[in-house]
Amino acid sequence: MSESIKTSRGTLSITTGSEGPKHDPYGFIEYHAKGKGGKEVTLHQGLGDYLKVGQVRLEVPKGKSLTEVFKEETGLDPHEIERWHAKRPLRCKCKGGKPQLEWTPGYPGEHFLMCRKCGDILDSTFNKSEIE
Ligand SMILES: [Zn+2]
Repeated sequence: MSESIKTSRGTLSITTGSEGPKHDPYGFIEYHAKGKGGKEVTLHQGLGDYLKVGQVRLEVPKGKSLTEVFKEETGLDPHEIERWHAKRPLRCKCKGGKPQLEWTPGYPGEHFLMCRKCGDILDSTFNKSEIE
């Protein structure tokens, strides 16, 4: 699932999904923002954590975290993207009527914000600390 938000800082997006073997899937989250060079910078956190600029994986200098390098490349903290993401308006198929939103657990550590009336999934979060 991928969602983009248009902000004053350009288009930011978050992708969530699962990776790893089918019998033992692992949730991941990716933060995307435009980097200094105009290419999309991706911070992937899941089974393995990495940074990508365009399609190329970036070597992270020793002593620096992926988050720090992401910040250098894009001027944004992944948490800022999360905050923007959390503030975006949520819409499901229940036009007119009030959606009945409910958080339901998915894969370990993963939670979906689902509408009980139409079944639309409007949001998902991944909490790594729940499985570590
Ligand atoms: Zn609905």
